[in-house]
Amino acid sequence: MKILVIFGTRPEAIKLFPVVSALAAVPHITVRTCVTAQHRGLLDQVLAIAGLVPDIDLDLMEPDQSLDRLTARLLTGIGEVLNRERPDRVIVQGDTATAMSGALAAYYRKIPVAHVEAGLRSGNIYHPWPEEVNRRIVAPIADLHFAPTQTAADALARENVTHGVHVTGNTVIDALHWTRARIAEDPSLATGLDAIAARLSGRRIVLVTTHRRENFGDGMGAIARAIRQIAARDNVAVLFPMHPNPNVVSVMDAILGDHPAVARIEPLDYPHFIRALGLCHLALTDSGGVQEEAPALGKPVLVMRDTTERPEGVAAGTAKLIGTDEARIVSEVFTLLDDKAAYAAMARAHNPFGDGHASERIARVVADGNRW
Ligand code: UDP
Repeated sequence: MKILVIFGTRPEAIKLFPVVSALAAVPHITVRTCVTAQHRGLLDQVLAIAGLVPDIDLDLMEPDQSLDRLTARLLTGIGEVLNRERPDRVIVQGDTATAMSGALAAYYRKIPVAHVEAGLRSGNIYHPWPEEVNRRIVAPIADLHFAPTQTAADALARENVTHGVHVTGNTVIDALHWTRARIAEDPSLATGLDAIAARLSGRRIVLVTTHRRENFGDGMGAIARAIRQIAARDNVAVLFPMHPNPNVVSVMDAILGDHPAVARIEPLDYPHFIRALGLCHLALTDSGGVQEEAPALGKPVLVMRDTTERPEGVAAGTAKLIGTDEARIVSEVFTLLDDKAAYAAMARAHNPFGDGHASERIARVVADGNRW
């Protein structure tokens, strides 16, 4: 059986490299990988760490990130790959333009599609935008839906998707375990943070990531001003691996400049980012993946969004939705810095998103069809 795994961004690569390796271990499966490179640099960081050399690289990064042009190029590019490769099954992950276009191109050729991280729903088509619709489009096409949690499976059931749904855990926890084990064997994988860790030692670190399209503009300005207020506190530092999107960089340059308590650094490769999560007191983020990783490491995570498709972290008490109002961000961070009980209530290690064996389950189902 020939399986083509298609992906294009950093989070897809993080969440799929364990799946590729689990599939490669199945004797009757030939696994091929196709990257669209929708996000070139960030994707390549993960490929390097995972030791994954894609079989096909479409190199389709759209310089201005225009969604219509990107989607058109993805659809035709992936379509041509499918014509050549003729896989028995396609696997896509999550909610990117690559996942949506990959599923659609496969559907046009009547090739079955498996969807990893199926069933995440915020209920609002503009939050996150355009991801909520991207993932909804995959659902009626896929015949295998790998839901990370029962909550995600329930969301699919509400859309009458009940066949081929398997609750597997989120493969990000597999990636996290694998990476932590690699760092334990070879600490040099994450020593690039030594100098910064030494410089910030003794201070409580607030780890910030932000890149969501719906936060571009006013939201990003509010986030930047909130960071400036947080960094003004004694014995607090902000560690900010900054997404290269100009909508993020230009605002941060203008508002934060080279603030001495804000360490704005290049995006970290995965082992370094996991180390940064380990070093921090709390995470302040609008990322999806960080909402899943922080609870596993017992780090409180404040989510700068109005809705989340990952309510499990909120239910478990390790994540809190705080939106992008400047005063609210500041007060929520200050509460965690000042109120020991509030901090302790959130800083408990939980694994609502998986046990680290999701990829094996996925590989077993793919190998056996729907009989598992
Ligand atoms: N991440 C990383 N380096 C960084 C920031 C994030 O490796 O500098 C990882 C993080 O651990 C998570 C993933 O990237 O697994 C999240 O990606 P992103 O926030 O870009 O996308 P989202 O999860 O929101 O789709």
